Amino acid sequence: MKKVLVIYTGGTIGMVKDKHSGALLPFDMSKIHETLPVLKEFNCILDSFRLDPIIDSANMNPQYWLKLVNVIEKNYNLYDSFIVLHGTDTMSYTASMLSFMLENLQKTIILTGSQLPLGMIRTDGRDNIIGAVEIACTDLVKIPEVCIFFEDKLYRGNRTTKINAEYFEAFYSGNYPSLAKVGINITYKKHLFLPFPEKDFKAYNKLDDNVALIKLYPGLNKEYLKSILKIKGLRGVVLETFGAGNAPTEKWFIDLLKKAIKNDIYIYNVTQCKSGSVVMGHYETSAHLMEIGVISGKDITTESAIAKMMFCLGNFQNREDITKMLSSSLRGEISE
Ligand code: ASP
Repeated sequence: MKKVLVIYTGGTIGMVKDKHSGALLPFDMSKIHETLPVLKEFNCILDSFRLDPIIDSANMNPQYWLKLVNVIEKNYNLYDSFIVLHGTDTMSYTASMLSFMLENLQKTIILTGSQLPLGMIRTDGRDNIIGAVEIACTDLVKIPEVCIFFEDKLYRGNRTTKINAEYFEAFYSGNYPSLAKVGINITYKKHLFLPFPEKDFKAYNKLDDNVALIKLYPGLNKEYLKSILKIKGLRGVVLETFGAGNAPTEKWFIDLLKKAIKNDIYIYNVTQCKSGSVVMGHYETSAHLMEIGVISGKDITTESAIAKMMFCLGNFQNREDITKMLSSSLRGEISE
């Protein structure tokens, strides 16, 4: 019988309405079988673990990520797969971070949540949990990845973005197809899974949050950019550029980035578009970036780029190695 550990971190999924205030408060996840008796029908052992404190995922931070990694690492050999119940707001960031921190993953980790609390009649949480459990327990395939299951699709987690705050189809993966689709049957697309690793599993336990995100927009102010690049201890910048990686060609802009790179700051070029890729040198407006040593994130998402930078800067030192890691795919987050 498969063993699955359900780790509850918080978010809308585990909320019930407080009778007095009307506010949404977390309910007791250890009673998940009482809330969803149908889970007993699955031929698997479901244990639950509540991470302390329970948070709205807007409060997610590197310390909490390390805690989560630690729980998975400690239980890695005891379970066949893991389900992480998580708020939707930052689920894509957490899925990306877990994918980097857990190297040579041989088990399936599925993050899921909901737009409506489990305690509400029309909740999407019920189907999301049931789908996640069925996939986590399947004997049909081995999915050695950190995934997000939402609505009717299983995604590679580090490819996703939350795109909807209203409807149930909350996630989008513009540069990689879903790994599985739930209909009458669950269709697994095995050819899209990461290959099963031959090396031993390794969990990392360091992160460097001296990373900034700068989104370009017409009219970006020089003093604003200057002040960010001058932040004490800053080591990396995710630069969200236009289209295929384009940015202003104005001298002051290029000079500021050039100076930052000389000061050992990594500048990582990702696109603001929800699908497609940075192709530096395609237009004149990105050729300068390439010349001064900006690193192309190709088709990586912003969420994944931030997580990857924190991971790389926290665990590796050599500039050449870090540049190489940022430019290539570590966990299927970039198309190659
Ligand atoms: N604010 C909530 C969270 O991300 C939203 C949700 O779970 O859907 O924790």
